[in-house]
Amino acid sequence: MKNLFEVKNLNMHYPVIDGLMGNIKGYVYALNNVNLEIRENEILGLVGESGSGKSTLGNCILKLITPTSGEVLFKGEDILLKDKKQLKEFRKQAQLIFQNPYMSLNPRMKIYDILKEPFIINGIKDKDEINEKIKNIIRLIGMDEDVLTRYPHEFSGGQRQRIAIARAIILNPEFIVADEPVSALDVSIQAQIVNLILSLKEHLNLTMLFISHDLSIIKYISDRIAVMYLGEIVEIADKEELFNNHKHPYTEALLNAVPVISEDKKTKKIILSGDLPSPQNPPKGCKFHTRCPYVMEKCKTAHPDFYEAMPNHKVRCFLCENSG
Ligand code: SF4
Repeated sequence: MKNLFEVKNLNMHYPVIDGLMGNIKGYVYALNNVNLEIRENEILGLVGESGSGKSTLGNCILKLITPTSGEVLFKGEDILLKDKKQLKEFRKQAQLIFQNPYMSLNPRMKIYDILKEPFIINGIKDKDEINEKIKNIIRLIGMDEDVLTRYPHEFSGGQRQRIAIARAIILNPEFIVADEPVSALDVSIQAQIVNLILSLKEHLNLTMLFISHDLSIIKYISDRIAVMYLGEIVEIADKEELFNNHKHPYTEALLNAVPVISEDKKTKKIILSGDLPSPQNPPKGCKFHTRCPYVMEKCKTAHPDFYEAMPNHKVRCFLCENSG
């Protein structure tokens, strides 16, 4: 399968400014040397605790924020080097679904105008074309045309997220970053929205980066999964491989946090203790060493590479140094 995106050595270090003097007194190391491919037509799940850098990565991939250094290749071209006009073209092909459907829809605009806005922004003026596309998209997200004359506050969270999804896909993008798209919704509605995203992905041939802290949702929706810890990808593999043959202690800890019904009480389990260290002052060596039950002396000073544990399965941990 061809790569749609290649992320190379991506860093995002936010300066921390001293309020009085305006001097830089440190950095928040939000992304550190991230390397990642997103293949055409796949859903790549990105999972990790809150504060691990998942949303920052999604925003950098869409160039909604400009990273400190690195490359983001879309179909082989670095979007970080694109000018304003080229970026506008790129944004037609790559869209974002936000976490919070209560914030992402303008409360003063009717649904019709919300869905029309992307056409206006992109200079598309043909009224018949716009109307036809809006009606089609409303059908596709399972709503009736009468919603078009109403305002966002008249809808439930799930319905608003359907409308936000419609807005994201109305210009027929190839790629979507879905940033925690169901975490603000009731559990009873989450499955409906996840299933809607899956059916749209099939129907429209979408490629997707699906960001979530919830491994059970990531497992349900993804083809491959990348696990993020403190601004680094620590493990990436096909979904089945990651769930059945995970190698990184952090992945193991995340999986142990997912409730399962099991009679196997003898298996040793890693339970994640303590908070995520501050990205402003990350631990030296392996960033997970302060919480890892398998920590060795060298983990405290040396930084592990990304080892190929199996074909298509990479792990950033010294325990995999000699595998592959
Ligand atoms: Fe644990 Fe060491 Fe592996 Fe880091 S490199 S995850 S501290 S065993």
